[in-house]
Amino acid sequence: MAVSFAAVNLRTMALRSSSKLLRRSSHLLPPIHMQHSAPPLTRKISMDARSIASQLNSSGLLKTQGLIGGKWSDSYDGKTIKVYNPATGESIADVACMGGKETNDAIASAYDAYRSWSKTTAAERSKLLRKWYDLLMAHKEELAQLMTLEQGKPLKEAMGEVNYGAGFIEFSAEEAKRIYGDIIPAPMSDRRLFVLKQPVGVVGAITPWNFPLAMITRKVGPALACGCTVVIKPSELTPLTALAAAELAIQAGIPPGAVNVVMGNAPEIGDALLASPQVRKITFTGSTAVGKKLMAGSAETVKKVSLELGGNAPCIIFDDADIDIAVKGTLAAKYRNSGQTCVCANRILVQEGIYDKFAKALIDAVRNMKVGDGFGEDVVQGPLINEAAVEKVETLLQDATSKGAKVMLGGKRHSLGFTFYEPTVVGDVNSDMRISREEVFGPVAPLLRFKTEEDAIRIANDTNAGLGSYVFTNSIQRSWRVAEALEYGLVGVNEGVISTEVAPFGGFKQSGLGREGSKYGMDEYLEIKYVCLGNMKKE
Ligand code: ADP
Repeated sequence: MAVSFAAVNLRTMALRSSSKLLRRSSHLLPPIHMQHSAPPLTRKISMDARSIASQLNSSGLLKTQGLIGGKWSDSYDGKTIKVYNPATGESIADVACMGGKETNDAIASAYDAYRSWSKTTAAERSKLLRKWYDLLMAHKEELAQLMTLEQGKPLKEAMGEVNYGAGFIEFSAEEAKRIYGDIIPAPMSDRRLFVLKQPVGVVGAITPWNFPLAMITRKVGPALACGCTVVIKPSELTPLTALAAAELAIQAGIPPGAVNVVMGNAPEIGDALLASPQVRKITFTGSTAVGKKLMAGSAETVKKVSLELGGNAPCIIFDDADIDIAVKGTLAAKYRNSGQTCVCANRILVQEGIYDKFAKALIDAVRNMKVGDGFGEDVVQGPLINEAAVEKVETLLQDATSKGAKVMLGGKRHSLGFTFYEPTVVGDVNSDMRISREEVFGPVAPLLRFKTEEDAIRIANDTNAGLGSYVFTNSIQRSWRVAEALEYGLVGVNEGVISTEVAPFGGFKQSGLGREGSKYGMDEYLEIKYVCLGNMKKE
């Protein structure tokens, strides 16, 4: 399939000049971001993006077909879908638009490969994973460029994601050798009791667009390490990074069929994975709504399920916090990936004694963040993924301001156009506003005021979500008390970026099931088998 640079997304182009942009309400403190006139900048960005795309094409890492049984394959009916650069609205590539038939073949090849892959030694699997890790790191720049191109995140952040994402493969290579069983003291003298850990089987891995590499490696790494084989379905918005990673897996020598990639018609692919009795595990990162569907759909064949779903992260700033640390941590927790992560601070709860001082310091810091194309120098805020994402931010902000919230900085689309949005701080938010009950998934920091530690914990826990949470305080006793009281799977104390491949990542309540990363993440791909050896009397 050809890589196409021709089709410019006219819908997005049109939006840039739409009168909608002129109708936004003004904000209290004017942003001082770049005031480029949009057309010349847009032309320059497209040219840069095109030359990067064509370099990637010649490096062999710009794949546009699915991967089934070790072979790159078009969709069976020849259909394709376009992948767009969110910073320019231009199409980067046409990728295979696959469905149920291709997925069934991918499952069959994963099932076939499982027979031999599950029998390899841990040392063999470890070596191949290590090679894959080395290749991912050797192609760090290309992978990061692909990510910036299709997802929009700043190149430096994308490089960080390659380190983080590849880290799951390195960790899995090491952990493959530590999948120990147990010997249990038997209650009868003529018996011996063993516990073996064995791979669960073929895994269906469905991933979102916000971390195009890391969401895949944190699933595929442990799955392969445990002896499972995988059918990956990356997001249709960002399949290129996934396909490049799969190409590197082949180059590393991971056998055909152990890693398959299909993308296209998401519900059809999902249904095929759910219906197959050969798929023994579904691992998913994405929206709570789709996660619930997958969980329900897994019931028919009783699959093992891991879900990493939406969050509503509280970020609690106590009066006794170090303000510089709190601002730095909040910036990282809120604005990373332009606010598009499930652990992004969604509600910033600030104790009343420090509220004004913290708000001012946060605004000063946010004002200095450079917005632009992810390839631009010093850019720390890229575009949002698509128009729907911007509309959601607008709707939530509109609801909040109509109920009394005050925009303190930003609060409208960025003059760069497309899906760029101004980094925003909004004050006087309360728990009744949609913005503090739903995931914003954009660069908007809602500030809520609270009085006591008990209030903070009550407000923080008053949600169905329970993924990431953050606490800023200089009191050791308080940090323990609050960390224990928060109904969240992850708690950062005086730190805004806490994800690492060596620690367990996952949610309480409706934020999900299971854990990813660390030794705990390995268990998600293992069955526990108990063996009882009887009749041990002397012969
Ligand atoms: P987001 O809002 O982050 O895009 P989604 O849950 O819609 O979250 O998407 C996450 C992943 O789930 C994507 O790969 C998407 O294509 C996939 N997906 C969406 N709907 C379905 C479905 N019905 N079955 C299987 N996968 C789906």
